[in-house]
Amino acid sequence: ADLLAKSLPKKKPINGVKQILLIASGKGGVGKSTVAVNLSVALKEMEPEKEVGLLDADVFGPSVHIMMNLHDTPLITNDNYMMPLTNYGIKCMSMGNLITEKSATMWRGLMVMNALNKLIRQVAWGPLDYMIIDTPPGTGDTHLSLIQNIPITGAVIISTGQKVSVQVAKRGITMFEKLQIPVVGLIQNMSSIQCEYCSKKNDIFGNYIKEFSDSIGVEILERIPIDSCISEGSDDGKPIVISHPHSPQAHIFRNIASKI
Ligand code: ADP
Repeated sequence: ADLLAKSLPKKKPINGVKQILLIASGKGGVGKSTVAVNLSVALKEMEPEKEVGLLDADVFGPSVHIMMNLHDTPLITNDNYMMPLTNYGIKCMSMGNLITEKSATMWRGLMVMNALNKLIRQVAWGPLDYMIIDTPPGTGDTHLSLIQNIPITGAVIISTGQKVSVQVAKRGITMFEKLQIPVVGLIQNMSSIQCEYCSKKNDIFGNYIKEFSDSIGVEILERIPIDSCISEGSDDGKPIVISHPHSPQAHIFRNIASKI
């Protein structure tokens, strides 16, 4: 990565896009897409005059289109650009809008890079104040390609409190630091679950992330508990910020939006 940082090619901005934020994690299934979707919606809600775009860069396991209830394929402009799909005021693009469930599940590296490039450069994003990019888990070609090719403003790292989740996330943070991408903050997802009978909170994944945050001096922006309204919202294509706007959880996502 040191060598890579030195040999970075000149990054080419995405026309009209001001700030680009990567949502990343070490392990999968920790809530990256959930945060990317709710954060985008919260940003738009807080600053309606601003344009927000959401790019699902998880080419192998796209899910943003489901969480945003966008199931169409994009229209193509005369000059061959794809029109982003829009819901809740957010312009979105996901591989899930370009492939059927049966196709393109086993791609080779180069095909992934081509697909990623299309999602970035062949989409008529128009002017955007914020582009939120949901990345695949880990630290692979997708991250390197994004970092090398486009000017990234910063990255937010999602992890549970569990040691194994944090330790894998740590590798991602090292990569971002070496490639000179500011890590804006950590988000602890699935931080606790509340018993529906006695209301007692259980920190099921522990709190190793706190120790880690202290040791690297990167703030935990927010802690998001496990809440069935969050997972149901993802399945229904209605993020909790929209479906339960007055819930404490929606408030947490708004807090994240105000901090970044
Ligand atoms: P990733 O993008 O890191 O793979 P997802 O955002 O897809 O993770 O989340 C994994 C699963 O967990 C999804 O089914 C999602 O709905 C659910 N989920 C994520 N965060 C929460 C939460 N705080 N409470 C309840 N379910 C959650």
